[in-house]
Amino acid sequence: MMSREGGLGQTRGEVKQALSNVSEGLMKNYRNTVEFAVRMREKGPAYKEAGEYLIAKGFWLSLRLIGALTGVSMDYLTPLDARIMSYKEFITEWVGAQFKRLLEDYGIRLPWYWQWFELELDHWHHNFIIGLYTWRRTLNVAFRGPTPDERKWLNEKYPHWEKFFGRVWDFYIKKIIDGQIPLPLTAVHLCAVCQVPIQAPVNGKYLRIYLKEYKGKIYTFDSPACLWIFDQEPDRYAGRRTYTQRVLEGMIQFTEEAYKDPKRLLQEVIWNMGQTEEGEAGLDPTDGAYALLYKEKDQDFLNRIKKYTEG
Ligand SMILES: [Zn+2]
Repeated sequence: MMSREGGLGQTRGEVKQALSNVSEGLMKNYRNTVEFAVRMREKGPAYKEAGEYLIAKGFWLSLRLIGALTGVSMDYLTPLDARIMSYKEFITEWVGAQFKRLLEDYGIRLPWYWQWFELELDHWHHNFIIGLYTWRRTLNVAFRGPTPDERKWLNEKYPHWEKFFGRVWDFYIKKIIDGQIPLPLTAVHLCAVCQVPIQAPVNGKYLRIYLKEYKGKIYTFDSPACLWIFDQEPDRYAGRRTYTQRVLEGMIQFTEEAYKDPKRLLQEVIWNMGQTEEGEAGLDPTDGAYALLYKEKDQDFLNRIKKYTEG
């Protein structure tokens, strides 16, 4: 589905084909789930509810997967001249609208989190790629941040992008321009249901950590929908311990120095996850060149940096 660079394709035609495949695959799955739920509905009210739960859960978790793969790929890794639409447009028109129609056809109401689903299309995958970029040394992926031209495109497609995400990228770009490597400074919490890292709350109103205590342990979630899924079947998800939880519970240990020096801590996390320190994992394939473009091509870059440090 994705090229080695992570893009959906090199031409508009290739991208269109890839998106049709994604959309058709999803709709086939949704149709199967809905038809199963409809057969269950005939058995009585309890079955009807269970069927609707399956639909709501399936749609939500498929969005996590598709946001992580297709969302990041479409809006960040596909070449600008091959892009035919944004991820938000794709999900809204090619996935959400069709799913909605499918439910209407069978007289099934929309999942309760629909508003949340629409809201997240402006945030979730933009946060996710920042997390991936920050933690790229621990992952088997290599990528860079958006160039000034790609950033212009992001701002056209997502009017709130600059406000929420531009500042974070500027901070990384400045570091690279200054000859430093941006490093993660905090531990990552994973969502206990979708297993995706919970991002720093750049917008505390929508993105925050949801907590739940269950049988004496605290679980973290990235959304009300994931928390809701946990509540429906806690024992299914409660047994899993995320990487950060295992660290906090002392199942994974670091040296004394690591707790005093974030650089050292990152190195130990990388060793710990089985990556080699100087391995190919997570290196920027442009070696920071995307960031250096801001010095030449983005007249406003230095002004913004000045404003951040003043404000
Ligand atoms: Zn989640």
